[in-house]
Amino acid sequence: MTALPSQARVVIVGGGIVGASVAYHLTTLGWRDVVVLEQGSLSGGTTWHAAGLVGQLRSSSNLTQLIRDSVDLYSRLEAETGQATGWKRCGSISVARTVERMVQLRRNASVARSYGIEAEEISPKQAGERYPLMRTDDLVGAVWIPGDGKANPADITQALARGARAGGAQIHESVKVTGVKLERGRVAGVHTSQGDITTDVLVNCAGLWARELGRMSGVTVPLHACEHMYIVTNPIDGVTSDLPVMRDGDGHIYFKEEVAGLLMGGFDPWAKAWGMEGIPEGFSFGTLPEDWGKFEILMRNAIERVPALETAQVRLLMNGPESFTPDNYFILGEAPEVRRYYVGAGFCSGGIATAGGAGRALAEWIIADRPPMDLWQADIRRFAPFHANPAFLRERVSEIVGVHYFVAFPNRELESGRGLRRSPLYERLQARGACFGSKMGWERANWFAPAGVTPKTEYSFGRQNWFPHAAAEHRACREAVARFDQTSFSKFLVQGRDAEAVLQRLCANDVAVPPGRVVYTAMLNERGGFESDLTVTRLAGDAYLVVTGSAQTTRDADWIRRHVPEDGRATLTDVGSAYAVIGVMGPRSRELLSRVSSADLSSAGFPFATSREIGIGRAMVRASRITYVGELGWEL
Ligand SMILES: Cc1cc2nc3c(=O)[nH]c(=O)nc-3n(C[C@H](O)[C@H](O)[C@H](O)COP(=O)(O)OP(=O)(O)OC[C@H]3O[C@@H](n4cnc5c(N)ncnc54)[C@H](O)[C@@H]3O)c2cc1C
Repeated sequence: MTALPSQARVVIVGGGIVGASVAYHLTTLGWRDVVVLEQGSLSGGTTWHAAGLVGQLRSSSNLTQLIRDSVDLYSRLEAETGQATGWKRCGSISVARTVERMVQLRRNASVARSYGIEAEEISPKQAGERYPLMRTDDLVGAVWIPGDGKANPADITQALARGARAGGAQIHESVKVTGVKLERGRVAGVHTSQGDITTDVLVNCAGLWARELGRMSGVTVPLHACEHMYIVTNPIDGVTSDLPVMRDGDGHIYFKEEVAGLLMGGFDPWAKAWGMEGIPEGFSFGTLPEDWGKFEILMRNAIERVPALETAQVRLLMNGPESFTPDNYFILGEAPEVRRYYVGAGFCSGGIATAGGAGRALAEWIIADRPPMDLWQADIRRFAPFHANPAFLRERVSEIVGVHYFVAFPNRELESGRGLRRSPLYERLQARGACFGSKMGWERANWFAPAGVTPKTEYSFGRQNWFPHAAAEHRACREAVARFDQTSFSKFLVQGRDAEAVLQRLCANDVAVPPGRVVYTAMLNERGGFESDLTVTRLAGDAYLVVTGSAQTTRDADWIRRHVPEDGRATLTDVGSAYAVIGVMGPRSRELLSRVSSADLSSAGFPFATSREIGIGRAMVRASRITYVGELGWEL
């Protein structure tokens, strides 16, 4: 065993497919001094028992692009490294039992084509010709992706590791990272079971263990393990290695050829969370007990699709843990809590397909110290600390597993882990027929059902049931006046001697304005790129109120904080939950407010883009004359 180095340019924790991919890409991009630490053996976490499907059809365009990169890499990796990968371009068929599913497949195929991926809509008959074992009389249609394939996940990991080693990386197995050394909010080194390593850059690719590893350094990595199962049969007549991968989302199932038999797995609509008390010590190449009761529904659906399964001999029911996140996207990027602490984890059952592209994206992110493209859907800064609450995660991930094969209707809301954050007006809105959605944990009224209408969105790809009711609200706002509960907006106080200088550097508009002025502005990065759009209200010479979108909370706070110079005097305090906000918007908003306030609300007395305290009834409130609706209005 080679001794651990005392120093490295970067330490990657975790020798699964993701850690190996990050190491491979860092070395191919020219970094030599790369160290991977794996507590057990390479691929011994979740990677070894993955089914190995690599499908490019996704509802997110960024994901599609990353998986396309994976396919490019996997198809050349064996020739490049001399290590077998099991990669086979067998193509895939995704079938639709319903019209809605077909709409989604068609849309996903169109996204795929925009990234240069060949994707063809085919009839049930054509699907049957490509997959003779499949029953097709109940299908509406299908999509054929000739470039999709399958791989051996453990072999891909070994090939990536071999490529990384050839590029100068050191990979140490049986070395556990026990702590991360921080200095002045930055990574300074790691403590391991075999000594310390000094490093400026840490990459947490610790799979199921990533949340716990993050917690040691105050880094939020909201993921939780769930059970994921598949069976493998003995050989079945007609199954050859050329058989395409087949996905039947309506049945929650997928199929892949495995040694002339079938591997069939699925995404249970409500799966079982696992590892409530933490991941057991020494869990390496581990599996979980078979659960035929839970698998039965998937098995029944599978027999409906491939009747030959009825008589096939099942040689294995594999139950393995995989980590899932609160929104079914993986977690990538630099943690807002610690500089140069990167995370690549929570791959929600898509880690094999995604690792090639995601590993490259993360390596480029580390080298350039910024994301290589818009990766917001996967960006770690979309979460806040409350997302790592174990009780919330347990409830949420159980639903997330099934989301994998949901029909991705627009405006679809998750049902679990709701009600985390409520505005003081919540009950009143509910009494008025609000149909709530959730954003950054906040319950927000999406639309209001009039008397006699149930406040529940009926999902469809066409016009949904809320349309006429939202139209009535819209008309009221345009022609008269409407009130909005905007409490969920994020609010920061930026204070201190250098508050103006910090915001002035980041904001595109001039925020060196007198107290009482509101500036609507973009917040930019060094390349003139867009980080956020927000309103900046000057409260005093050394104090600003910054109001931004709920989803941007962590990202914007991080962006502002990281631009306070080391010797700068400015602090950011998140006051989002301290203030409720009511928007009063529309041409008659002045008239309405005048009924409850004696303040001068005329254009001369309260001009646009100004803010001050006024009395409303017996309360003093901060009123800001701004609007997102294109009409006269105030935010209170
Ligand atoms: C049954 C099943 C089937 C699947 N099928 C597919 C599929 O067909 N296609 C697909 O794309 N995905 C599939 N997946 C998902 C895929 O397996 C995972 O997304 C992927 O393996 C995750 O890789 P990883 O590198 O993030 O995690 P892991 O493989 O778990 O690697 C993390 C590593 O970190 C190490 N580690 C943790 N803590 C420390 C520490 N403190 N110090 C040192 N080392 C540490 C662990 O030992 C582990 O080896 C499947 C998953 C399951 C469970």
